[in-house]
Amino acid sequence: MKITAGKKEKKSPGIRRQVVLSFGGFILIILALLWVFQIALLGPFYRLIKINEVKGVAQTLENNLESETLEETASRLVNATNTAIVVSDELGRLYVAKKASEKYVRLEGLTPYDLRNIFDGVNLQGGTKMETYRSQVETWFGGTEEGILYARTVRTKSGLNRLILLESELTPVDSTLETLRVQLSCLTVVMVLLGGVLAFFLSRRIARPIAAVNESAKSLAKGQYEIRFEGSGCREVAELADTLNYAAEELSKVEGLRRELLANVSHDLRTPLTMIKGYSEVMRDLPGENTPENVQIIIDETERLTNLVNDLLDLSRLEAGVVPLDRTRFNLTESIRAILTRYDKLAGYHFPFQAGEAVWVCADELRISQVVYNLVNNAVTYAGADKTVSLCQTVENEKVRISVTDTGEGIPADKLKDIWERYYKVDKEHKRAQVGTGLGLSIVKNILDLHGGSYGVESELGKGSTFWFELKLAEETTALPDPQEAAH
Ligand code: ADP
Repeated sequence: MKITAGKKEKKSPGIRRQVVLSFGGFILIILALLWVFQIALLGPFYRLIKINEVKGVAQTLENNLESETLEETASRLVNATNTAIVVSDELGRLYVAKKASEKYVRLEGLTPYDLRNIFDGVNLQGGTKMETYRSQVETWFGGTEEGILYARTVRTKSGLNRLILLESELTPVDSTLETLRVQLSCLTVVMVLLGGVLAFFLSRRIARPIAAVNESAKSLAKGQYEIRFEGSGCREVAELADTLNYAAEELSKVEGLRRELLANVSHDLRTPLTMIKGYSEVMRDLPGENTPENVQIIIDETERLTNLVNDLLDLSRLEAGVVPLDRTRFNLTESIRAILTRYDKLAGYHFPFQAGEAVWVCADELRISQVVYNLVNNAVTYAGADKTVSLCQTVENEKVRISVTDTGEGIPADKLKDIWERYYKVDKEHKRAQVGTGLGLSIVKNILDLHGGSYGVESELGKGSTFWFELKLAEETTALPDPQEAAH
């Protein structure tokens, strides 16, 4: 047998490697996202927020230009947003001048002339102007900080012209970025280490039981049916192990049956063949032995062989489902009577048949007679000292039940279920030579299953057995005359 699982080519990575790779990939993606959002995008985000903040400050000031609390509002805004504020009129007269930090000093020392110029310039540009610049002050971690200058000209409700000038920082404060960078670096190291350890244990936990099941499955494929699968870890693996254990048991049973069949069939074939060969040789070599009795033995043994081969063929065809049923409407009672007449020659045996009215069924007559033959043959084989096999026909609920009863040795209760199995014999040792192959009841079961009929057995050890089957009555049972009776 070729075991493809063991082939070298086209081998995909093991489950353990896949778990580690997936887990590692997942951690890397998380880290990459963290770095991108926390470091790379922090600057642009901060910038956007800051610009909006400065615009908000300008708007608040604009709303309060004519208010008496302008000075207070400006002070509050300076503290809250760290923005330097200058408010003047179109002639350069100062109303508010607030300093925010030592770093941003562009608004300091502006003369009325400068303010007038700025006012005119901003007015010409539509009323607002924004400018960013690099401050000359170096940050402690290198590079220069960026500042923003914002100007807005406003005409108040009472017709006064005002210039609002704001200056603020644009770069994230001092060490924020660097702190984040250091934090993220630590986090990265911790996550990579933790991820590695987790991936190692996780993959071991997942992969180990699967690998064990895989190894056992390879042994099973090599024909070691007694192998047992251990499924630990997760539910799916436990279920897989259970299923495989069940499959292994079934395979083992089938294998047992196969061996038994081979032994049975070869034994059952060999016995008659040996007899035929032996008797033929004796008859050839010793002319006096050429007697009708010896010829009869050869004929009997040939018949036994034929029966065995027929049974085997029948059963395999029935089980393969390739036997089409040739259903006709026939008189079952009469059919059984006809079968029983064939047993008349069986010396010493009695076959009382207790039947009421003749019943008609719609079934495959040949197959149903096969059922009756098998049951009667078994009853004859296992009949008790009284050599009586009684048959009984009863009708109930549109069904006819045929029972075949013997007063023989009976069947142990624990074997009752098994006798319908192929090749099953209750007493494997003793009767093999003289009785059937263990196929008869299996054929009965298959035929009745095909007909949708029911069947069963009641048996008591030492007292005998009753095998029965039931078939549905054909419609209008009594309306149609029996063609055989009509012919007489
Ligand atoms: P076989 O060809 O061996 O009779 P069957 O399938 O017909 O095979 O029967 C299976 C087994 O059931 C028999 O080997 C026998 O042990 C048991 N059995 C069948 N019919 C009877 C019976 N009437 N009395 C006792 N045992 C029976």
